Amino acid sequence: MAMEQKEILRRPSVWQPRDPAEAVRLKEAFGPDAVYVAGSTLLRTQWEAGTAVMPPHLIDLASIPGLAGIAEQDGELVVGSLARLDDCRAHPALADKAPLLVEAIKQIAGRSVRNQATIGGNVVYRVGDAMPALLALDARLDWHDGTGSRTEDVSEWLRAPSAAPRVLTAIRLPIAEDAPTSNARRTFAYHKVGRREAFTPSLVTVAIAAASAADGSIADIRIAAGGGQTVPKRMTRAEDALLGKAPDARLLAAVHEAILEDYVPAPDPFAADSYRKKTAANLVVAALWKTFCRPAEARG
Ligand SMILES: Cc1cc2nc3c(=O)[nH]c(=O)nc-3n(C[C@H](O)[C@H](O)[C@H](O)COP(=O)(O)OP(=O)(O)OC[C@H]3O[C@@H](n4cnc5c(N)ncnc54)[C@H](O)[C@@H]3O)c2cc1C
Repeated sequence: MAMEQKEILRRPSVWQPRDPAEAVRLKEAFGPDAVYVAGSTLLRTQWEAGTAVMPPHLIDLASIPGLAGIAEQDGELVVGSLARLDDCRAHPALADKAPLLVEAIKQIAGRSVRNQATIGGNVVYRVGDAMPALLALDARLDWHDGTGSRTEDVSEWLRAPSAAPRVLTAIRLPIAEDAPTSNARRTFAYHKVGRREAFTPSLVTVAIAAASAADGSIADIRIAAGGGQTVPKRMTRAEDALLGKAPDARLLAAVHEAILEDYVPAPDPFAADSYRKKTAANLVVAALWKTFCRPAEARG
């Protein structure tokens, strides 16, 4: 009986705020004794592995209405932070306007996890597999800090995350304008290499969003790479080398070198840094070759 009582007292309190401001107030009040919970798929693995301790207070963000929608608004796709990964994967507007994100989400965990996990949880994780795609798409993040809303570039959040107890409310994706001529085109590529073929944590993840001009030169390109515990980052040296040029074998060799320099993987017990650097460079260059150098009939 005494054991049972102790067990009950150890259970966390679950708080159900009605809006983001209330969620922030709760976090401010409890400090490290509370954590925001969305789908709880990541938190659960951390608690079970002992890499984090379940605190006495859980702030359930799913109780806040209006955070799970996906809509087009003023030239942007606005994805609520509580949108489940599988709902994002199946959403027609995302499939049509942000296929790169949909491709990334398809490669996260299995369906049962994606049915519960949220896009916001993947962003706050920082090394989630959606992040390279969000960087390549130039996404922006809406945060509520308890007094109001603030928007920040995803690259800024990855570079210098704020420690303030704010709530991520939405992810904004610019909708790319149509290519200016029928010969110009927008393309994307996403590759995740893990320790096995499917349902695997990533070792290296790369995402590319590009637009080519009618003359075959690259008019716009963003390349991002992450994987494992590596916080994803734009490969700016490679982007600068490609911009305004029509890729050929010599340019792609220079891009390969640039990625070997730009991509600095966090240590991983399952694969050497040198393997992961080479893999990132190979994946990017292979995707660029397929998109820009292979004869049009082979591209399909
Ligand atoms: C079997 C399994 C396989 C997995 N495979 C992958 C994989 O292949 N790739 C991958 O990227 N991930 C993977 N994950 C991790 C996880 O499922 C995803 O990253 C998921 O998107 C996390 O979302 P969530 O809603 O469950 O987050 P939660 O676990 O609820 O939260 C994660 C973190 O984000 C914070 N948080 C959540 N939402 C907000 C918000 N709106 N504002 C502020 N803070 C917030 C929480 O406090 C917590 O620190 C896997 C997990 C499991 C269990």
